[in-house]
Amino acid sequence: MKINECNTAGTLVGRVPHGADLLGYLTEVCEKSGVTLGAVSLIGAVSRAQIAYYDQEKKEYRQIGPFEEALEIVSASGNVSLKDGVPFVHLHAVFARESGECVGGHLTEGTTVFACEYTITKLDGPRLERGHDGTTGLFLWKE
Ligand code: ZN
Repeated sequence: MKINECNTAGTLVGRVPHGADLLGYLTEVCEKSGVTLGAVSLIGAVSRAQIAYYDQEKKEYRQIGPFEEALEIVSASGNVSLKDGVPFVHLHAVFARESGECVGGHLTEGTTVFACEYTITKLDGPRLERGHDGTTGLFLWKE
């Protein structure tokens, strides 16, 4: 069992601009702020959501949506680490319709922000780099 111990090293708080791509913008924030390890959470609303579901048998992501509608970001959380030497934001999100019905999954590019407030907690700790894992087919943190 490998346990990585980290210390918090500051928190970034801000808004994602109206019309921005959610994942692209957060990745840019991490790149510009030098965040290579961290925790992300956010709330807000989107005008378009693009998420994916990981098929464990086929070992591939299946796109869900896009959902071209006004949705609430009920909850979204994830992390920042390195993939191919650059910051990689991994985020899962739950979106609610007007009825309260929800859809959710692994966030991909193509999610358009209506309004969004994010918190990124920077962490100091071991270098966590993603690499291909043969068992799951996913890009997980290397042991
Ligand atoms: Zn995921």
